[in-house]
Amino acid sequence: MASKRRSSPGPVPKEKQFEVFKRFLFSCRTCKKQVPDVVLILLARAASGRRVADETDEATAMWTECVGCGLKAGEMFVGGDSRCYPSGVRRPIPAMLHMRIEQLEMMDRWLNELLANEDSDVNGLLELVFEMSRRQMYGPGRDELRKLCDKYSVVEVRYAVEIAMGKYLVPDTSCPGGFDDNSFDDAFEKIAGICHLTRADRHDPGLKKLYWIRTILRDRLQATDEDYQDDTALSALRRARDAGVGLDQLELIAQKARDWTDFRDRLDQAIQTHTAILRAEESPEQPKEEPVTA
Ligand SMILES: [Zn+2]
Repeated sequence: MASKRRSSPGPVPKEKQFEVFKRFLFSCRTCKKQVPDVVLILLARAASGRRVADETDEATAMWTECVGCGLKAGEMFVGGDSRCYPSGVRRPIPAMLHMRIEQLEMMDRWLNELLANEDSDVNGLLELVFEMSRRQMYGPGRDELRKLCDKYSVVEVRYAVEIAMGKYLVPDTSCPGGFDDNSFDDAFEKIAGICHLTRADRHDPGLKKLYWIRTILRDRLQATDEDYQDDTALSALRRARDAGVGLDQLELIAQKARDWTDFRDRLDQAIQTHTAILRAEESPEQPKEEPVTA
């Protein structure tokens, strides 16, 4: 029927194809093989078992499969080049070659897009490092920042760079405006840890400060007190924090503690005091009843 033929799927526009290919990472949804190892075709779910002509301009209704998997599945084939072929039709070899070339070009464009995005993130961080430390970084330093950007958001990494450089760089007295080499290495190494801790702090509020308080305690006790242990110290601090003891008070306790036992005693004391205050707040003294006058 002539009218039916006119309603069959039209060409899938290039940009739309590109969108779908990107969404499925230029790989076959079934066997996961990627261009250039396979040639991909676009498929769309047939609505109520019929061919979905109207969905060809709807990129979200399509997905990609390699020629092998796609034709086997018997789904609706809406065309991987700019034409449409009914499911199961073996396309002529020149068309396949054409598709392969087009897909390689699209893949190339996609990789360039990815690289451009990634580089602008990493370049921005390198500029920040340079601003703060007067160091140009290449090779491993650059790779390290790129790895961090994969794991954390750029905002998180930026924040960590600022903290690390601001806190650990030591001016080089022999070179005005410069910084000591070792302090730079030290600062750079801290970036990953700060990223990790900042993220952990969001799930465990105050954690960063607790680590800091533990550092104070460790500096004071580790060498002289054999009872001191990093993990018990942290869990004791956490327990006090959870009981409501303020972080500033915990810092004060760490600064004053003479030894591990003294530290534990002061913590317990603080927890007790705090619990007592809380109880008093929860159940304020009942006002005395007025004597009933006859
Ligand atoms: Zn496949």
